[in-house]
Amino acid sequence: PVRVRFAPSPTGPLHIGGLRTALYNYLLARRTGGTFILRIEDTDQKRYVEGAEDYIMEALEWCGISPDESPRKGGNYGPYRQSERRDIYARYVKELLDNGSAYLAFDTEEELTERREQEKAAGNHNFRYDASTRDSMRNSLSLSEGETKALLEAKTPHVVRFRIDPGETVSFTDTVREEVSFQSNELGDQVLMKADGLPTYHLANIVDDHLMEITHVIRGEEWLPSTALHVLLYRAFGWEAPVFAHLPLLLNPNGKGKLSKRKGADLGFPVFPLEWNDPVKEETFAGFREDGYLPEAVVNFLSLLGWNPGTEQEVFSLEELTQAFSLDRITKSGARFDIEKGKWFNQQYLIATDDAVLAPLVLEQFAAAGHTIDLPKATTITGLLKERVHLLPEFVSNGSYFVGPVTEYEEKPIRKKWKPDNRAAFNEMADDLTALSDWSAATIKETVVAFMGRHELGFGAVLPIIRVAVSGSVQGPDAFEILEAVGREESVTRLRKGYD
Ligand code: GLU
Repeated sequence: PVRVRFAPSPTGPLHIGGLRTALYNYLLARRTGGTFILRIEDTDQKRYVEGAEDYIMEALEWCGISPDESPRKGGNYGPYRQSERRDIYARYVKELLDNGSAYLAFDTEEELTERREQEKAAGNHNFRYDASTRDSMRNSLSLSEGETKALLEAKTPHVVRFRIDPGETVSFTDTVREEVSFQSNELGDQVLMKADGLPTYHLANIVDDHLMEITHVIRGEEWLPSTALHVLLYRAFGWEAPVFAHLPLLLNPNGKGKLSKRKGADLGFPVFPLEWNDPVKEETFAGFREDGYLPEAVVNFLSLLGWNPGTEQEVFSLEELTQAFSLDRITKSGARFDIEKGKWFNQQYLIATDDAVLAPLVLEQFAAAGHTIDLPKATTITGLLKERVHLLPEFVSNGSYFVGPVTEYEEKPIRKKWKPDNRAAFNEMADDLTALSDWSAATIKETVVAFMGRHELGFGAVLPIIRVAVSGSVQGPDAFEILEAVGREESVTRLRKGYD
């Protein structure tokens, strides 16, 4: 059975790339009837950010891609937080020490820095702790058994390093990149366990993937170089490596460079989901949820940044994505992150979603802007505006006339049409509307049409005037629907007021 994991480090808000990684893992699990695991990789105490784990959980929940096993939910392979698995890592590090794949290194930070500087002075700018230099360093391979023992007895701080032999071509198959090869000479003897007894990412990551029986590792391309090391670690343990799939880079909207993270901004929690900064327009982006995206649209949008269905279809429900998703359609080339496309997706979802389902969200937007409306009213506004907006807050900015008086009129289109003697005629129309027994778009229209007949006026002369008087603009949904929604009393008041 397929078991996949999303393994973020709780070091801050979730980057869009992270969310996409989570989504692809989720989709493969759902597609194959497998299990989606959330593992928190929190062994780097220095970069730990309080609240980040909750934020990640909440972001996944919001997107509708909650894990089957996680620190909160538990499962048979826990604990799911690496900080709670120290003893496990210690055991496995010992195994590597015992079979000669790892060794103890006693060099202090100062010694390493000094050595690096010496090398630099001698013209070598990339000193590496590896087979070519390890003999000249203080470690259990270069020191005698007695010296090593003495250092350990004196409780000398030390790390554990992975012993990598030179001259080997390390190859593995990546589902996306196909055959990938690295030279072992290029890897260096990576630290597996730090002086504080905590494992590094590499060790903890592969021990956990093995123990949690992970079958597929799906993660960002930036982890590709680490994979060579991981392959060697799997071999040192005598374990079978999982299938690897490295997802293409996300590129800036202009297609140039890696998608940038927002710098310096205090994002706080929760802001959903992401760190991102548009280098082109310098647009501020609070986060998908904060900016008024629907989670379904976000999921759909992200699903196509690095994967394609092989057809022209763009709009996919999560259910449809689950049916269509496959690792072999993940693309190699970087995916351009274009927020305008994201807005387009959101509009598609607004249009496709029932008014009754959207109405509570629209009501919330009005409430946040200080307007109290009831659900029927919110439902009406939703239906009238949803084809004209992209994001939820636009219901308020485009629909302010539904909840309050018109304060600004689009002057130009009206001045041409509005003649002084219109006033009397329009007051007459207002009287007719006041007398209506039933206030509905249909009866309002009948009344206005009758009025037009009496005064020999056409729609072109009358409708723009009604529109601007009642909504401030010549654009917008059907004028009679607007009048119905605004209500009789308020509509008539606005008609009598005109454009003054
Ligand atoms: N903790 C790593 C990260 O923050 C996990 C990488 C992986 O999936 O192996 O992305």
